[in-house]
Amino acid sequence: MDLMAASEAGNPDTLGVHTLAVPLPGFEDLGCSNAYVLGTGPVTLIDTAPKFPGSLFTLERQLASLGYSWSDVERIILTHGHIDHFGLVGSIREASSRRISCHIHGEDAWRLSPGHLSSGMFTEEAVRFYEQAGIPAHVLDRMRRRFVFFRALCDPIEDILPMSDGDTFSGLGFELRVIHTPGHSPGCCCLYEPHRKILF
Ligand SMILES: [Zn+2]
Repeated sequence: MDLMAASEAGNPDTLGVHTLAVPLPGFEDLGCSNAYVLGTGPVTLIDTAPKFPGSLFTLERQLASLGYSWSDVERIILTHGHIDHFGLVGSIREASSRRISCHIHGEDAWRLSPGHLSSGMFTEEAVRFYEQAGIPAHVLDRMRRRFVFFRALCDPIEDILPMSDGDTFSGLGFELRVIHTPGHSPGCCCLYEPHRKILF
């Protein structure tokens, strides 16, 4: 379901739920990164987008069209710790006059840490694993270069708040329950809004 279209059509089940979409330049096959805005203010953001040049402004314009600025965002909940979901957290916090809390499942929190990001997101442990799995050296080199590029698309988050399966968040006009769904990453989570029966 296109949540934005549904909410614009006045569907009460999706009022106060909006989709923001940020294009991924150079990754046309991936389409775009989606973020979601919940509530009627202050609002909660689910996920962000990678920090491509202009992405913050793209998101900001869409937020403004809903009547909100970054200072209306009280928290960011991340479904998992990949850069296309957390890349803009630092920039959004810088742009806001409000202190924005940031939440992710405990098993993915390390992915946003300064230590992990300064290591190039490509640990020696990972290299040993890939070598044991038979990945050729030239492919590993290409992977390492790609991670250097990925590193430029995000900022570390030092004060991330770990969340767990069953945790709940609420705001004006919504509730969210955390459902731990490991697989895509160890700390990957879905978020369930029980009143509208929407699963993010
Ligand atoms: Zn991912």
